Amino acid sequence: MQAVSTDKQYDAVIVGAGPAGSTLAMRLAKAGRRVLIAEQASFPRYHIGESLTGQCAETLEELGLGDYMGGGRYPVKHGVTVHGQKERSKFWVPVQRRDDNGDPLVRTTWQVRRKEFDAKLLETAIARGAHFIHGTAKKILGSPEKPDGVKVIDQTGAAHNFRAHIVVDASGQGAFLGRQQVLGPISDAGYEKQIAIFAHVTGLLLDPEPNHGNTHILYGKSFHWSWVIPQDDSVTSLGIVIPNAVYKASGLGKRDFFLKYLSELNPELSRRVADIEIVSPVRAISNYSYRYPQSAGPGFLAIGDAQGFLDPIFSFGVTIALKEAHIAASEIETYLDSGGEYGFENYLLKVKQAREIVQLIIDTFWQYPLAFLRLAHYSHKQDIAELFYGRFYEESTLELEAVKLMRELVGKKTTAKPIKNSARGPSFKK
Ligand SMILES: Cc1cc2nc3c(=O)[nH]c(=O)nc-3n(C[C@H](O)[C@H](O)[C@H](O)COP(=O)(O)OP(=O)(O)OC[C@H]3O[C@@H](n4cnc5c(N)ncnc54)[C@H](O)[C@@H]3O)c2cc1C
Repeated sequence: MQAVSTDKQYDAVIVGAGPAGSTLAMRLAKAGRRVLIAEQASFPRYHIGESLTGQCAETLEELGLGDYMGGGRYPVKHGVTVHGQKERSKFWVPVQRRDDNGDPLVRTTWQVRRKEFDAKLLETAIARGAHFIHGTAKKILGSPEKPDGVKVIDQTGAAHNFRAHIVVDASGQGAFLGRQQVLGPISDAGYEKQIAIFAHVTGLLLDPEPNHGNTHILYGKSFHWSWVIPQDDSVTSLGIVIPNAVYKASGLGKRDFFLKYLSELNPELSRRVADIEIVSPVRAISNYSYRYPQSAGPGFLAIGDAQGFLDPIFSFGVTIALKEAHIAASEIETYLDSGGEYGFENYLLKVKQAREIVQLIIDTFWQYPLAFLRLAHYSHKQDIAELFYGRFYEESTLELEAVKLMRELVGKKTTAKPIKNSARGPSFKK
């Protein structure tokens, strides 16, 4: 990875070079802004989050990465099949949105190997003019009310104080600004007591072409589910998600639990995994669901997982990361042009709408699975496709009949509870 700049004053310092950080850096650098990304991991590095939506594909094309993504590099995804316990509770959601006339527009998107995908985004950001330092952001400079830079410790142990007009937190579940008390008190988002256990496998039964690259979600019972996300011609990402308490009570290690549960969770899953071989470490992540109340303010802004994450079931994370980076780029331009006077109103509004819609979809799925099945499979297929596409930011999304119906169903049940120890964050078990 290309080396560091020794410059110490920037328009923006971005903590984290995941999809959110690199996308924002690309946009700001292209606009001629002085931008620095600090990333603590050595790229290429493994990351979970391998299935993209149609919206995500559109954003990547807007970034000029359509050619890179296409051409057989990554599996093509036409949609997702959600398998219930019985064949009749199965539903299919294509990668499809409405065009400007309201007619269905079918397209495809991709499944990605994050190791390569994230490295490509970072390389592109650097090639387009972003500066980069391989190091860990340790603390903010200035105050939590108005950060004006970041102290970074590089790989040799040397400390750098980078001053910036705006500090952007794209540190994912590292939650850099949250842990520095900049974003307000952390809340759980309702799904925090889950654990995901996952690995790459060969020998999993996929659908024949052209559907080989599609996602499968397999429902066990409330809060028990599994994902199947093809990675290339032979390797598939396979994960199970269950309440943490169920895993702990089993007394089993990750690998044994994973193998046992794969054969018990869902009949269709048992059929598909009968001959698998695990070809990667079995990894786990727990307590990944949380949110912070303040995603932007004087001298700071948070994008992607750094400001909150809910539930990975419908693969919305990278879409949100890219789209928030995209919106944030123009907002940061306005902020810089205003000499720090602009209050990020548009960003706050859009992010609030999108994250509420995502919460609504997920709450409805878990609290009213039969109603969700009816919407997705019979009465409001087109609306559900639009939502799975990742169209969370358009005002018209609020007018979708399915959104209105879900709001009536879920009502006031969607409420976040404060987490007592706000220094707590998600935990990874390697
Ligand atoms: C079990 C599970 C399954 C998922 N499946 C999907 C899926 O199929 N599709 C999907 O779209 N999303 C999925 N997600 C969500 C997805 O992984 C995230 O939403 C996405 O990676 C967020 O991108 P980001 O850029 O915000 O953060 P990240 O991708 O996490 O990037 C953050 C970067 O910041 C760096 N960093 C952290 N702290 C510091 C620091 N102090 N200094 C310097 N660098 C730092 C990290 O090393 C990392 O590289 C899943 C999530 C989970 C938990």
